[in-house]
Amino acid sequence: MNEDTGGPGQWTVPDYEKVRTLGEGAGGRVVLARHTATGVPVAIKYLGERLRGDREFLARFRAEARLLGELRHPCVVRLYEYVEARGGAAIVMEAVDGVSLRQLLRRHGATGPEAALVLLKGSLSGLGAAHTAGVVHRDYKPENVLVRADGTSALADFGIAVRTGRETEVAGTPAYMAPEQWQGEPAGPAGDVYAAAAVFHECLTGRRPFTGDDVTALRLQHLRAPVPLDDVPAPVRGLLRRGMAKDPAQRPGIEAFLADLERSATEGYGVGWEERGRRRLTELTALLALLFPFTATATLEAPAQALTLLGRLKLGGWKAAAGAAALAVVAGGLTSVAARPHDTSTTVASSVPSGIDSPTPSAPSVSASATDASPTADTTPTGTPSDSPTVSPTPTVSSAPPAESPTPTTASPATPTPTPGTVTITIGSWQRGQTPGALVADVTVDTTGTGPVTVTADYYVDTPADPYGNQTRQLSGGTHYPVTFVADFANHPCRGTWTVTLTSTPAAANGPQTASLDAPPC
Ligand code: ADP
Ligand code: MG
Repeated sequence: MNEDTGGPGQWTVPDYEKVRTLGEGAGGRVVLARHTATGVPVAIKYLGERLRGDREFLARFRAEARLLGELRHPCVVRLYEYVEARGGAAIVMEAVDGVSLRQLLRRHGATGPEAALVLLKGSLSGLGAAHTAGVVHRDYKPENVLVRADGTSALADFGIAVRTGRETEVAGTPAYMAPEQWQGEPAGPAGDVYAAAAVFHECLTGRRPFTGDDVTALRLQHLRAPVPLDDVPAPVRGLLRRGMAKDPAQRPGIEAFLADLERSATEGYGVGWEERGRRRLTELTALLALLFPFTATATLEAPAQALTLLGRLKLGGWKAAAGAAALAVVAGGLTSVAARPHDTSTTVASSVPSGIDSPTPSAPSVSASATDASPTADTTPTGTPSDSPTVSPTPTVSSAPPAESPTPTTASPATPTPTPGTVTITIGSWQRGQTPGALVADVTVDTTGTGPVTVTADYYVDTPADPYGNQTRQLSGGTHYPVTFVADFANHPCRGTWTVTLTSTPAAANGPQTASLDAPPC
């Protein structure tokens, strides 16, 4: 494996070889890679080095992986696995063989109304799937829409997505941000509808709806200026006006907007609009073929069967590792990413564009101290948390595929010492206990032999760099051990994600197992 080409910090996800960089943005670098064993192509998003020390950001990055993991839709980029280790964090996902809508618009300008309608329809379908899953994207823009050669598209980058209705900081990309987002109101699905309509305007005219010289002017336009319809073809003017209504309550929901789209498109362009629109997109993307991930890499073919298999394998693992815990999104601030004053296409979060009343920035998390981290004793604590970050040298891999079973050590016939053989750890649940701050992990350890095995639970808040203590258990004499670990997080700051990672000696064949749970509000 090429060790020095994955992310800026040089860490690469085990078992994948980098092919080349696909894109780089606020959230990190995206590379095209190949699963070494199967040759399956994937896209890997590495968290940027600058942001890796930012716990809020790491929590958000992890949340993005979870959100993607929950979504299955042809118009949403599919997640295979999320990997977090000492050296970095990354999302392994479907590699979409296409170009971003931004690249397409930059090269061709306006797409024509039928192609614009096809793109809008695809995006609304993807956003609708996200909304059904309770997730608001919040950063819909041409950079985050990937258009395939057949004219279909997929939604990427859930980097600042949140649970519907969550109170959060100002976030989004100024050029496409809805009035309510400018006013710091909680993100709702209507904000995604507005952004999709604003991008529709750009596809129709080649220009963004509002182009204020700076964010203050842009804000005023989004809040007050009428939707610019002059250059918009008459059959879709009503659609655009409704989608970009200033008042979110006046905007149609996704389903209604999709019905509106079908009606406007059919009345305006006839029943063949969709087919023609898709054909047009095929022509436009063909002219950008050299930018396609797989075209530019002739040796990399996408074997459909292997891809499906990989997806199933990884997603099964993902569920086992993280799905057991109640999944809620950490709505932290993305404090180190600031929009340049005149760059209105940059994603911003917690960096309030000038001229906006500043919402309270998220409070920094407080590190656990030695005294507030003693796990409750139904097991023996073998270490106390230290101020200096310590992490397991073994990478923590959520949803890693089951490894090959190691050959059990064979005992000498003269001294038949039992060995544990192959060890498998399963986290049944990771949930709050009866007393406040108590977290309970129900774990099962299975072995193929009866020899001794040591199981360790490491706790941390948000990131392994912020350890919270650990507990161990010695097991022997059986092959199936239900084990309960109880940790006391009572003194932790009441935000962040509580995580437990289970490892064993000898190492479990299915690798370290991890489960996370969001801290309740204070
Ligand atoms: P950021 O948070 O940095 O904006 P994105 O997830 O939007 O990251 O990815 C940045 C760019 O990388 C995209 O604009 C696109 O060109 C490319 N990209 C991202 N995900 C994929 C993918 N799954 N398949 C192909 N290209 C991708
Ligand atoms: Mg992006």
